[in-house]
Amino acid sequence: MTRPSKALIDLAALRSNYLTARNLHGGRALAVVKANAYGHGAVPCAQALADIADGFAVAFAAEAFELREAGITKPILVLEGCFDPNELLVAHKANLWVVIHQESQLRALETAPIDAHSIRVWLKVDSGMHRAGFALEDVQTAYARLEACPSVASITLMTHFARADEPDSDATAKQINAFHEATASLPGDRSLSNSGGILAWPTARGSWARPGILLYGADPLPVKPEISTNGADSMPRGAAQLTQNADQPLNQAYQLKPVMSLVSEVFAIRTLEPGEALGYGGTFVATTPVRVGLVAIGYADGYPRVAPTGTPISVGGVLTRTIGRVSMDMLTVDLTDLPQASIGSPVECWGKQIDVNQVAQQAGTIAYELLCNVKRVPKVYQN
Ligand SMILES: *Cc1c(COP(=O)(O)O)cnc(C)c1O
Repeated sequence: MTRPSKALIDLAALRSNYLTARNLHGGRALAVVKANAYGHGAVPCAQALADIADGFAVAFAAEAFELREAGITKPILVLEGCFDPNELLVAHKANLWVVIHQESQLRALETAPIDAHSIRVWLKVDSGMHRAGFALEDVQTAYARLEACPSVASITLMTHFARADEPDSDATAKQINAFHEATASLPGDRSLSNSGGILAWPTARGSWARPGILLYGADPLPVKPEISTNGADSMPRGAAQLTQNADQPLNQAYQLKPVMSLVSEVFAIRTLEPGEALGYGGTFVATTPVRVGLVAIGYADGYPRVAPTGTPISVGGVLTRTIGRVSMDMLTVDLTDLPQASIGSPVECWGKQIDVNQVAQQAGTIAYELLCNVKRVPKVYQN
């Protein structure tokens, strides 16, 4: 038997989530496939979306070149823009759209030897995140300089939210207002929303959305306590939120489909006697007989080592918990109440049965990081 651990990637779910995101936002949507499509594989994901997506977004130019080499001809926006004037020339040759978020990029564009009206730029406005982008008071000048650049074919105004995933904070409303005020007199397309903005901020609609985590079926909004109590609950979170949080600023139901299922199998079983400690550090000590399943996946595959005893995991489609420390290549699960579980029983770490957000919460992180970190296991694509 070969090692049974895999990341199953459901491309139909990816396509469905893209359409959900675009329908919720309206207008057009760039599918964000940076960081190897959040760990799902940038080329296969972009190819699966190529006929329906309005375009793609990546973090830096090399990520876009990989997509071009794989035959992706749709627009690709480079979210961090170019790192130097030379890269700008190569990006232009690859017909990429580039973000301009600071003075050095603006200067590179002004002096670049490229044809008239041949490059589309997105001018990034810092509306309050204070990470990248032109200050509100500098936007008019930056825009005017771009307009004066012969090479510029069009200018889209964009901003990015620091707290879109916090529906109860007024920070996003402030950013939206600041962005609109600073750009009111300027023509052109607008792009405000990442996934959190699409879901929670109907006032942040622009011409273009930039959904990332939504595409992969992980809800960026806070896990609701009434849903999080049952790790195996397969109820779509969006539908649940709509009925249970009718006061949230959501105007439509949404149903996200998890794209990645990180799966393996039980490959050994033992029973711990009371007093016996399990695994590295002996952090779990049996007080009663405990039936332990050994699962062929560990932190070298991207399962978080910090996930404590009690992290939800499913065995044979039934919810149970991890016990003891996660090792590099293995982890251990509690089979005491799963007498039907045996060697070869399928295990899902996260995916269709276990919400990746719940594992992330146990590990003190976010779904984004867990998904991006998946490695070593083969990816198996399903249409
Ligand atoms: C990564 C990124 C996104 C996508 O964010 P999600 O929260 O994953 O939807 C959108 N816009 C910018 C500028 C980004 O860097």
